[in-house]
Amino acid sequence: MFAPPMSDPGAPSAPPASMFDNVPGYEGTLIGGGGFLPPPVPSVPMPMPEPGHTHPEWNIPSITEETAREAFVMFASSKCCYSSGPAKDGVITRMDAFNTYRYRLETFSESRSTEWSQEPYNGQPVDAFTQAVPGPWDIPAQAPAFFNDHTQVIRVPYTSSVKNCYACVGMGRSPCKDCAGAGNKVCWVCNGSGYRHGDDRCSHCNGRGRENCTHCSGQGSRACPTCHGRRQILVFINLKIKWTNHNDVYVVEQASGLKVDNLSKVSGKEMYKDTQYLVFPVSGFPDRAVVGASERLVREHQANYSQTSRILQQRQIIELIPITKVSYMWKGKSCVYFVFGNEFKVSADDYPAKCCCTLL
Ligand SMILES: [Zn+2]
Ligand SMILES: [Zn+2]
Ligand SMILES: [Zn+2]
Repeated sequence: MFAPPMSDPGAPSAPPASMFDNVPGYEGTLIGGGGFLPPPVPSVPMPMPEPGHTHPEWNIPSITEETAREAFVMFASSKCCYSSGPAKDGVITRMDAFNTYRYRLETFSESRSTEWSQEPYNGQPVDAFTQAVPGPWDIPAQAPAFFNDHTQVIRVPYTSSVKNCYACVGMGRSPCKDCAGAGNKVCWVCNGSGYRHGDDRCSHCNGRGRENCTHCSGQGSRACPTCHGRRQILVFINLKIKWTNHNDVYVVEQASGLKVDNLSKVSGKEMYKDTQYLVFPVSGFPDRAVVGASERLVREHQANYSQTSRILQQRQIIELIPITKVSYMWKGKSCVYFVFGNEFKVSADDYPAKCCCTLL
């Protein structure tokens, strides 16, 4: 009978490094990924970023009392335990605008890494050393639409070769883990004694005390999981191309009392949008904080994402987010709520007529 090599602790779980060929241009390629490949220095000069065009007017919109009240009534009715009284009957005493700017910078980049991979050999084409291997950044790939994350894996041409399977040492089989290679194990019914209830012979194992291992059909070994019993594996380099949209947001502080994380749920009025290969920090914008944030983020993005990856496109957007603080009186009590964003979202932490929800 076939005698498989005994596993544990001997069998290698990872292929030895010596199994992989030395491929020029791919020296950093690892087993298991992480082989990181900086893009080559471009041979033609990079286009310089250009200052954006002049801005439209920075009008500040405001909402009417009617809009504020409608939004508030909708808000109260969406909460099961808010009575509608304050929203419907509260008397608005004051409305103040605390509109703010949100600056967003997106950098869309492409990065490439390589790793040695393997699969059972079934007669696939073997092309190692038949031609020069193209450099990792010379392999063409179809980029997705800008600003959309995507990953593509490409087998690097002329790197595929056939090797003996390291896991089974080319035998095609590996010992069954369930029976430790024996092909049988202790009978679970009689626990190995061969007898039940005194002198009754165990009918499950016919008194043998052992039963065939069902996992390997009594053979003691199974097809090697690495080569699927083929004895040989194909090894090759995979190139992983990752397109990533890096997104950073800066919101100008405002003193309304509305917490800033509320604003991530709403959109604003787009005041400025600039999409280019490399953007230039916004200039001439009336709010100095936005200009400062743009300078900082553009500098950080271009430093961070041009070393490890290739920047394909950048986009910067300034939005004006309307925020209105509404003060009102209800049953002699003075309260406030906020209406913000294009969606007229409402925040009212001190809503005066909540009934049941004291659940914690
Ligand atoms: Zn077995
Ligand atoms: Zn038995
Ligand atoms: Zn194998």
